[in-house]
Amino acid sequence: MSLRVLVGCKRVIDYAVKIRVKPDKSGVVTTGVKHSMNPFDEIAVEEAVRLKEKKIAKEIIAVSCGPTQCQETLRTALAMGVDKAIFVEVPAKDYETMQPYHVSKILSKIAQEEKADLLFVGKQAIDDDCNQTAQMTAAFLDWPQATFASQIEKNDGSLKVTREIDGGLENIEVKLPAVISADLRLNEPRYATLPNIMKAKKKPLAKKKPADYGVDLTPHQKVISVEDPPVREAGQKVESVEELVKKLTDAGMIPT
Ligand code: AMP
Repeated sequence: MSLRVLVGCKRVIDYAVKIRVKPDKSGVVTTGVKHSMNPFDEIAVEEAVRLKEKKIAKEIIAVSCGPTQCQETLRTALAMGVDKAIFVEVPAKDYETMQPYHVSKILSKIAQEEKADLLFVGKQAIDDDCNQTAQMTAAFLDWPQATFASQIEKNDGSLKVTREIDGGLENIEVKLPAVISADLRLNEPRYATLPNIMKAKKKPLAKKKPADYGVDLTPHQKVISVEDPPVREAGQKVESVEELVKKLTDAGMIPT
């Protein structure tokens, strides 16, 4: 059985950028800021490409929902080895309030239309830290899910997935079709080579709208405010262990 694999690729602020909160606290500054593919989505794409290299997958389709620049994110996925891409264009105004609920509805519709056997997403998007899309999409599709995957093995009609859980690992088996969310240790994603970046320009990239999938983008929640973390207080230097113990004792941090 050769699988059709769908991968969600979100365009997010690059992990190395220092995030700045907007003065009116309505969100974070995104204009003029470097963006890249969500790091967990690079891992999801890599895993899909490895499945294709092992002849377990036959076609990989990447999906990105968001502003026009998401097409660059999709070109990166295509250069890594994805076969075709679907760009679901969301106007800037709607994108500000778009939530995993809406993305999950779109992904589940595409999974059905494309007759996907497997949907890979990242365990979370590093911008909103929601960690909801895998779970909600699995629910909409009524498919089993294996979240926080750190190892995947294909058996007949099912996958054995190792999940990273608090303090250990859990091995589960899910029947296909299924939704998998990629954790950090699943693999190390490859860099796209220049020849593959050139080839990716010729691969198919379809443009769609949420309405094409019958998805209405009315927000389900409202962000009240986004705040910077509290500024860390300056530390103090001590000359000796004795002085440190005395200071901690005086501050009531060591019981006497
Ligand atoms: P979240 O639930 O927002 O933390 O996102 C988890 C994963 O869902 C991401 O790592 C992506 O794989 C996928 N995802 C979320 N938002 C989008 C989007 N706008 N377009 C494509 N995939 C997305």
